[in-house]
Amino acid sequence: MIDFLRKIFGLSSGKGIPAARPEKEVIASSAGDPSPVVLQAHEHGIDLNLVSRNAIRVVGTLQQAGYAAFIVGGAVRDLMLGEKPKDFDVATDATPEQVRRLFRRAFLIGRRFQIVHVRMGRDDLFEVTTFRGNSEKPAEVDESGRLLSDNTFGTQAEDAARRDFTINALYYNPTDQTLLDYHQGIRDLGTKTLRIIGDAEQRYREDPVRMLRVVRFAAKLGFTLDEATSAPIHQLHHLLDNIPTARLFDETLKLLMSGHAMSCLKELRAYDLHGRLLPLLDEALSDPKAARFIETALERTDLRINDGRTVSPGFLFAALLWPEVEVQWEAWQAKGEYPIPALAAAANTVLDRQTEALAIQRRIATDMRDIWLLQPRLERRSGKAVFRLLENPHFRAAYDFLLIRCDAGGLDAETGEWWKAFVAGSADERQALLESLSLRAAENSRSRKRRRRRRRRPSSAGSTDMPSAETPTTAT
Ligand code: ATP
Ligand code: MG
Repeated sequence: MIDFLRKIFGLSSGKGIPAARPEKEVIASSAGDPSPVVLQAHEHGIDLNLVSRNAIRVVGTLQQAGYAAFIVGGAVRDLMLGEKPKDFDVATDATPEQVRRLFRRAFLIGRRFQIVHVRMGRDDLFEVTTFRGNSEKPAEVDESGRLLSDNTFGTQAEDAARRDFTINALYYNPTDQTLLDYHQGIRDLGTKTLRIIGDAEQRYREDPVRMLRVVRFAAKLGFTLDEATSAPIHQLHHLLDNIPTARLFDETLKLLMSGHAMSCLKELRAYDLHGRLLPLLDEALSDPKAARFIETALERTDLRINDGRTVSPGFLFAALLWPEVEVQWEAWQAKGEYPIPALAAAANTVLDRQTEALAIQRRIATDMRDIWLLQPRLERRSGKAVFRLLENPHFRAAYDFLLIRCDAGGLDAETGEWWKAFVAGSADERQALLESLSLRAAENSRSRKRRRRRRRRPSSAGSTDMPSAETPTTAT
């Protein structure tokens, strides 16, 4: 597809509209809107079979009522890259109220951006937004330049100029299969470049979350940031301080669930953006053992997501913060606390510190705490308690978590192997596994006693410190 994109730069666009001029940036203004480059089906090559039938219906309904309507944003980007989009956003010149009236299941949502959620079929949900424009009056911004209100409707060209990156400002009309490109997004898709539309610093000031979005797209798509797009980020990362912690949490989750979590984390660190989101992570990543655990956990997450399986946010955050929980756990035990209450106290300390940066929802925090607190119980594997653990609603997550600890070298591999065999085993096999544990416990206690006796025995001439043949050298 990329080769194809490169090829089409040279092609003329349809309907007498000028061909893509790679070097010329189109600046949108309400007076004399620039024309987009229009590509026909054989030029852009989008496979209509990858477009959701229901998205086509939403666009069609709007168009039949006389409005302009397009698929826009990430869906067009994914289609151009030959991928099936996970969701479809629609942009139109109908107002939210006009959109609402056209669909049986349509709901107005949002205050800052009023948008319409249209439900179609069993579980399809479409976000329909009205083209945004430049306000007549100067935009309302706070002292750092952040946009406070953004609800003025505008032309399609204005809407395109308000979008974040050139590759996100493509409009696809599935009815006649034309593709409209206002900001040379096609060129940038071809050269795998992420380029912000307009003046980078101003666009980041208007909405600092765009700095996180650029990192996510770079990692997810394997694209390079254009120089002007990346340059201001180092100076502006502090602007994230003005963003509500709940929005930061949502964006962090998107980064971690992008299917490229580890590269996102690396990019976040490279741009100094991580401190505001995951302040506890810095210390953890400077310790090789902790870094290995986090890397293993994120690799697993990426694998699951790329296989189309689900990942729970609680599990993800539990993994990212586990190395810090372990540090605090030891600290509480050093203060004389028993292991289990020490772990509970450590969990609270870490959750409190992290929640100052990101508003972790209570439900997710509960999941995290449960996964952590189940760890020593899974390690102990004592008798009947093991069967009760299997019934625990968080067992599966805690078990997967334990396996990652084993794989990353934070826990002996034997514990993981035992649990794998137990989970897969028949009733008899499970019984045998439990007995093997009791036998081992008895053997351990015997060897402990032997060692104690040996220590008490006065040393006789000729005796050495070497263990006798039947004394195990290590406790297992
Ligand atoms: P994905 O859904 O894969 O995360 P996306 O590009 O579709 O990627 P959305 O958050 O769904 O991202 O947003 C849809 C579109 O809305 C974007 O493609 C972009 O055009 C526009 N958009 C979203 N957030 C912003 C923003 N903060 N500033 C400017 N435009 C934005
Ligand atoms: Mg999207």
